[in-house]
Amino acid sequence: MTSADLVPPQVTVRVPGKVNLELMVGPPREDGYHPLSTIFHAVSLFDEVTVATADEWGVGVSGPQSLGVPVDESNLALRAARLLAEVGHVAEPVHVSIRKDIPVAGGMAGGSADAAAALVACDRLWSLGLPRTELEHLAAELGSDVPFLLSGGTAMGSGRGEVLAPVLARGSYHWVFALSEGGLSTPAVYAECDRLRGDRPVPPPSPSPEMMTALRSGDARALGEALSNDLQAAAISLMPALGEVLDAGLEFGALGGVVSGSGPTVAFLAEDNEAAIDLAVSLTASGAVQDVRRATGPAHGAHEISAPRPG
Ligand code: ATP
Repeated sequence: MTSADLVPPQVTVRVPGKVNLELMVGPPREDGYHPLSTIFHAVSLFDEVTVATADEWGVGVSGPQSLGVPVDESNLALRAARLLAEVGHVAEPVHVSIRKDIPVAGGMAGGSADAAAALVACDRLWSLGLPRTELEHLAAELGSDVPFLLSGGTAMGSGRGEVLAPVLARGSYHWVFALSEGGLSTPAVYAECDRLRGDRPVPPPSPSPEMMTALRSGDARALGEALSNDLQAAAISLMPALGEVLDAGLEFGALGGVVSGSGPTVAFLAEDNEAAIDLAVSLTASGAVQDVRRATGPAHGAHEISAPRPG
């Protein structure tokens, strides 16, 4: 048996969504990008990306959150597969199948997650064995959130979010996500943030001591109080109902609540599993939210779940 015989004909990779526990946004740079300081936290809402050798390049999407995901060349997972093929000098096309459970355009980096998963899956399918640093480099080319979704866990992001550094984070946390009908465009939310700030001077973004202390302690209550997002006011300005969702979650006992990334998903931290169930039930019954999902964090980054082909 040669090593090629051990390569599975298709590879499936599971990848989590993320919430930004803290998102500090600086004034726009000359290239238009906003410098960030953020704490990424991967949560157990997963997409599954399967790549299989095919006659031509293609992508298909299924699952509860498939609405609104492009199935053309703009799909980030397909772009990731093509980029890796180019770098790895691979001529054979793949079909990418995405089972989508991460809300689309929800501020949970679902597209970036699929791109990270496609990189890992194709690297395995084609037996490229690219070094981790090389995968991270390609991930950053595809989008600022993509490198984090490779690693998962809890990490600090700077630059545009693509420069990652480890943080000392203890504990595991119970989350309730309030989903909204329709998404928010990330560029539109940044533009609204700039508009609301006007000429006000904005300091360079840096992690807050409150967040660092909360993560070190593993204390959910402290973390709940430290959650913050500079884009929250802009997301609420574009979608005022989000303010009511936040109020409802806090009223129903959440330890803290924050708009996830550029929204419109709202993340609530609960004391424990039971409190998360209660919160999810209350939010649903209130009619204030379109849909709720529970998850825990931190979750692992993109990882293979396909069983290797029997030798
Ligand atoms: P972020 O938090 O990184 O700003 P988001 O969670 O708000 O992102 P995504 O779910 O990543 O948003 O989707 C943003 C847009 O990207 C979608 O509206 C869609 O048009 C496009 N897109 C391309 N590929 C994908 C994919 N595989 N899954 C979801 N959206 C995709």
